Amino acid sequence: MDAPRKLQVGEFTIAFLSDGIWRNDGGCMFGVVPRELWQREHPADDQNRIRLNLTCPLIMRGNEAIVVDTGIGNRLSAVERKIFAHGDGWLAGGLKALGMEPGDVTHVILSHLHFDHCGGIVMRRESGTFAAAFPRARIFVQRGELEVARDSRNERLRAAYRHIADCLEPVNELIEALDGDTEIVSGVSAIVSGGHTADHQLAVVQSRGESFVHLADIVPTRSNMRGPWNQAYDLDALRTMEQKAKWLARAVAQRWWVSFAHDERVFAAQVNNDRGRLVLGTALEVPPGLDGL
Ligand SMILES: [Zn+2]
Repeated sequence: MDAPRKLQVGEFTIAFLSDGIWRNDGGCMFGVVPRELWQREHPADDQNRIRLNLTCPLIMRGNEAIVVDTGIGNRLSAVERKIFAHGDGWLAGGLKALGMEPGDVTHVILSHLHFDHCGGIVMRRESGTFAAAFPRARIFVQRGELEVARDSRNERLRAAYRHIADCLEPVNELIEALDGDTEIVSGVSAIVSGGHTADHQLAVVQSRGESFVHLADIVPTRSNMRGPWNQAYDLDALRTMEQKAKWLARAVAQRWWVSFAHDERVFAAQVNNDRGRLVLGTALEVPPGLDGL
């Protein structure tokens, strides 16, 4: 595996790990937007699925190694692997290509607890049991997200967290519940956005006048930069729109780097305003060869 692509943000080096390419229903990714519009940029296969990435930024400074989101991992059943066209996950391979191992990861920030963001927090052993994928990391997630994931009486919410026992039990001791915006290490913060889920959070890096934000499922692909292009999964699409407008405006004005959780072509980019339309500027592209199945 080639070494992950990197970006320098002040004193931090950010390496873009990928948990691999997967596929998901195009309609789910773009909500109210008709297929006719999204399929030009994101051609669908015969099952209406589009190609997506699982981008997990690794933020490094000295001995600090902070992973943001963990992809799907290797916990899917054979049937689920077919549905999502995803194999075993690539995070460990990406770390290895950097000369690191899972035990070197010091912190994990989980934007939220959907299976494509927290699945890789655990690793399925050959025996079928699960172990912590990053055994020495402190894991940061909003308390409200944990509460909804663990115990919701709402049918829709419950369905979105079917995987949660697999993912949380092996790492219970490592989890630190956050109550709102929190600085994780100096220069790296978890900032609550809401929108996609009520307590969805972003990761923000600021150092020596340079900045980076991982917008996770607020702007999952480059196409989701457009206001009304929101995932059908969003619990509060209007809040998602507000948040993306705010962060993308800041990114344009202050030359922030922005990364996309699921864009199959671009890990991260700077954003320009071209006569009222947001377009990508300098971009860090996803290399070929990350397809798992
Ligand atoms: Zn997602």
